[in-house]
Amino acid sequence: MPDLAGSPPAGAPTVPVALEYHGGDMDCGSGLLLAITSRMRRIDEGQVLLLHTREHSVLADLPAWARLAGHDLLAVVDDATGTGPGPWRLWILRGRNHAGPTNRSDAAEVEYSSGEPAPVGTRLWLYSNFHCNLACTYCCAASSPQADPRLMSVETAASAAEQFAEQGGRELLITGGEPFLHPELDEFIARTAAHVPVTLLTNAMVFGRGRRREMLESFDRDRVTLQISLDSAGPALHDRQRGAGSHVRAINGIRLARELGFRVRVATTYLPEDAAAAGDLRGTLAHLGIPENDRLVRPVAQEGYAADGVEITLDSVEPEPTLTADGAWWHPVAVTNRHLQVADAPLPLDHVLDVIRDVVAIQASAGTQGRSVFRCT
Ligand code: SF4
Repeated sequence: MPDLAGSPPAGAPTVPVALEYHGGDMDCGSGLLLAITSRMRRIDEGQVLLLHTREHSVLADLPAWARLAGHDLLAVVDDATGTGPGPWRLWILRGRNHAGPTNRSDAAEVEYSSGEPAPVGTRLWLYSNFHCNLACTYCCAASSPQADPRLMSVETAASAAEQFAEQGGRELLITGGEPFLHPELDEFIARTAAHVPVTLLTNAMVFGRGRRREMLESFDRDRVTLQISLDSAGPALHDRQRGAGSHVRAINGIRLARELGFRVRVATTYLPEDAAAAGDLRGTLAHLGIPENDRLVRPVAQEGYAADGVEITLDSVEPEPTLTADGAWWHPVAVTNRHLQVADAPLPLDHVLDVIRDVVAIQASAGTQGRSVFRCT
């Protein structure tokens, strides 16, 4: 495509412009995002759209949109006319997010669990912390014993749960890292489960005794479900992915949780080529007393430590709003992906949900198809 912009002004990047768009007075809530989204689809990855605008709010809103959409905002130049600020020019580099999932055909050959999209606002994820006793090969959160804990405070979690419940939220999922490494997990769970039922994801390896056992026993069985990871019937695949000796400890954790009266859901994660190595999981889970509807098999997501797996993009997975101590994200498996960060703070929740709803609306209007549910629970 030709360089339609001619010579760049002072402060502008020296990259060719593939397409220009004059947004006039439109703001991001009145059609500008849709207009830009449709024009970004007309240029190739690595090409630049030059946006002209007279609307000051675009300077605040456009960076968040670009980040969400996987594009890079290269520069903003004020073409001050002497009568006030603006108009402005914004250089937007098209990113790689429109490629779609890479392993969907492989995944389709394995019987991964499926599900229906949850309407935005009905399901919310909280990362209680990011450090973990394990460092699994496919960990989407890049957790390990050395990871920065990034603890979510009990107050933030309680506020999030309260705001979520006020907006009609129905399902709160708490994950990490290993949540039982959060020193105040008992308060964390009590203050959130008071507003909405909670599912707590754990590797079940550290709550057998001591203070963590006390925290586990303090949970309300009617408000808290435990989701425990078990990747194979025998130890080979599970221990290869999650560390030597982790399989037997996960089995013991499942047994203990059930003995204490918890509803236990079991989640299994593997690449398509490892499906056979999972062995007779159905038999093992039946032996452990896990009913069919509490068993979940999911693919590895290509995030965090995982070099292979399902690519997670705005266009490939349904949103599942996710809060961490320091931000908000499109989906819980994408909290290491800056292109899928929704906000720089977890609260207020209505702002996070509104941004996600806006993007969903833009994508629907632009005719996005083929997005799938990536089940984590
Ligand atoms: S996958 Fe779960 S158990 Fe494994 S390192 Fe990540 S957070 Fe820890």
